[in-house]
Amino acid sequence: MTAQILHSSALMRRAVSTEADDPSLIPHKPKQTISFCTQCGSRMDLHFVGSEHHWRHMCGSCGHIHYENPRSVVGCIVEHHGQILLCKRGIEPQQGLWTLPAGYMELHESSAEGAARETLEEAGARVDIVAPFAHFDIPRISQSYIFFRAKLRQPFTFAAVAPESTDVRLFSLKDIPWRKLAFSAVTIALKLYVEDLERGDWRFHHGVVKKKEGAGPNEPGTFALKGYIGLQLDKAHSPVTGSPEREEEKAP
Ligand SMILES: [Zn+2]
Repeated sequence: MTAQILHSSALMRRAVSTEADDPSLIPHKPKQTISFCTQCGSRMDLHFVGSEHHWRHMCGSCGHIHYENPRSVVGCIVEHHGQILLCKRGIEPQQGLWTLPAGYMELHESSAEGAARETLEEAGARVDIVAPFAHFDIPRISQSYIFFRAKLRQPFTFAAVAPESTDVRLFSLKDIPWRKLAFSAVTIALKLYVEDLERGDWRFHHGVVKKKEGAGPNEPGTFALKGYIGLQLDKAHSPVTGSPEREEEKAP
């Protein structure tokens, strides 16, 4: 039996192969999430594109394919005198739990710019990026996280409340509210952060967060970091624990 195929002339014009060699290898049809074409307003349907081995939302009228790709979440571990900045979420998901300031990257910005912007929005804190810290992929929810280490800018202020946060606080490492963290990626990043401080050197961390099907955003025992790679950074990025805050760089 041949896989479900769309043979519209629009598709043929796009030279998209919609036949799979072996129908048994076709992945499960996902839920349709887009109803109407962004180009012409006609109905979109899901069709299996054999040449790409993916189900795609396609317009039956103009042939437009709406590609869906993973989203990047960018955020900061903000350091200040041996403490780090956490935000209590004022919105769902995970309202009432603590997280690092982070959010979706916007178009036309870099990951570092996005991380600093999210920190300003969620914590009312202006920061300088110190170094990249971790990159995690979470395939099950099609997200990719990039965390940077950052330091508070003078005059070292942040907001007690921000539009998406009901509380913003500096926590010493021993007081991190591990049982009240919102997301698995945040839990993993903070564990690696504490580990680096205890080791006395910074690494850049990469890995894939595997989550159990149906698990919540941060249920203990339902996620693990796989394919881990930790790259030791050079001395320019070595820990400054216990040392005074570095002087702000003077503007030229
Ligand atoms: Zn269309």
